[in-house]
Amino acid sequence: MPLQRSLSEISDLDELKNNLDDCGRCSLSGSRTNLVFGNGDPNASLMFVGEAPGFYEDQKGEPFVGAAGKLLDQLLKQILGLNRSNVYIANVLKCRPPENRDPKPEEISACKPFMLRQIEIVDPLIVVTLGNFSTRLLLDRTVFISKIHGEPIIINNRRVFPVYHPAAALYATKTKELLIEDFKKLGDLLIEADRDIEREQNSKENKGEEQLDLF
Ligand code: SF4
Repeated sequence: MPLQRSLSEISDLDELKNNLDDCGRCSLSGSRTNLVFGNGDPNASLMFVGEAPGFYEDQKGEPFVGAAGKLLDQLLKQILGLNRSNVYIANVLKCRPPENRDPKPEEISACKPFMLRQIEIVDPLIVVTLGNFSTRLLLDRTVFISKIHGEPIIINNRRVFPVYHPAAALYATKTKELLIEDFKKLGDLLIEADRDIEREQNSKENKGEEQLDLF
């Protein structure tokens, strides 16, 4: 299915979504009920990237609407004081793998360019990768979430913050505790990222004033 325009020319989430409607770039197109593009604040500072839609997401066409989504909502609200409408949420794959099996490499390759462009368009301060698949996609290497969760990594001048997938924490107390700890760190990281932006803006304004003083 050819793109109407090259991905790098697309600077709007709606247009990117339109390019995925009826997508048949991998075999998951044959089993999906709905394509799950992602939703939330298109200008969010915080973007979450999960793995793939599950049963309820496939039914509703929205990301994280099942039990894992409820846990994510709780973490957002109780630790960060945020709602869904304050963040942007998407998945590596836009279509549900049958029986919620792991994504296959060829499916990730087919969907990856859209995920990466989605991040570029939202342009968040922090991308929170939920679980192994989105972390590996963003880091472009094989890593294990158990080894690298809770530590920010700079990729292409953007903070990437890997945490456990909320689904993995639903029935595992220890994993849930780690996820809660990481969300607390995420709150600090968000404050730090906001301060960096403020400092950058102040420095630009000061330079502008200095240049005006020369005249
Ligand atoms: S998973 Fe991605 S590449 Fe595969 S059919 Fe769905 S939208 Fe297209």
